Amino acid sequence: AAPVAFMGGMSRTARIGVIVKNGGAIETLSRVRSVAFDKTGTLTRGRPEIRAVHPGSLPADEVLVLAAGAEQYSVHVFAAPIVAAAHHRGLRPAEVAEAAEVATNGVQATLADGTEVRVGKPAFVAERVPGLRRTPLTAGETAVYVSRGDELAGTIVLADPVRPEARGTVAALRGLGIERCAILTGDVAPTAESIAAEVGIDTVHAECTPSTKVDLVAAARPRPVLMVGDGINDAPVLAAADVGIAMGARGATAASEAAAAVVTADDISTVAQAVAIARRTVRIAL
Ligand code: ADP
Ligand code: MG
Repeated sequence: AAPVAFMGGMSRTARIGVIVKNGGAIETLSRVRSVAFDKTGTLTRGRPEIRAVHPGSLPADEVLVLAAGAEQYSVHVFAAPIVAAAHHRGLRPAEVAEAAEVATNGVQATLADGTEVRVGKPAFVAERVPGLRRTPLTAGETAVYVSRGDELAGTIVLADPVRPEARGTVAALRGLGIERCAILTGDVAPTAESIAAEVGIDTVHAECTPSTKVDLVAAARPRPVLMVGDGINDAPVLAAADVGIAMGARGATAASEAAAAVVTADDISTVAQAVAIARRTVRIAL
């Protein structure tokens, strides 16, 4: 294959907002037969809105105070809207002595008086709150659970809308002969499945950790796999995939560094366009 033609492919993808870091990635992209997507921030906009705050052992405002106290130390896409909601209601986030992000689970914080607070997904908070009752959700919503000691302080319901161009992107990839599209997400199955239905994907792997995402990509081989992701938790799988594309506009720096290509436009349809460009480039190059 002629490297000069691959450079032409790199400049054509750059023009649509996909920076491919080397010619080899153009060649691999042209041969991709399955595509795995992260959900949050990749198929969804990554700008969640707060739909409701449900009181548990504490009133709603105090649920937000606790959650914002812990989330001010988090870089997860759910953190900023929770902190903003507290400020919006004129509430000061709780002062925390210590806080630690527990990847793909949530945040664990310790208040000045030593009380532990957990903010995150149900399984994580249920470790502190035996018999945790799940909050009923409608399609596309995710509940963030907030515990204080061994009590459920309350829950915060968020919804992160699907990118308007996501469904068309999946259809365009199928039109290019991509045999399998899948979602690999740290989120729970019901939320993942409703997003999958909205975008036209039928394979869903929920409650993934960074390392199970890597295992799932390895299992799809020998056909070359394209992974599209945005978060810190996606960096290992973006590096492990045959081609990793990071949604770079608002994604984590670690994801952009690990990936072979970065989408600088805030538009996932450029991923399908890049595959089409790679196909044309390689046809010319070979
Ligand atoms: P994805 O793989 O879809 O991008 P993540 O692995 O980042 O999702 O997160 C998985 C789930 O863990 C989220 O849906 C959320 O319920 C929970 N979670 C992770 N981090 C936080 C946080 N800082 N605050 C609240 N919930 C969190
Ligand atoms: Mg993500």
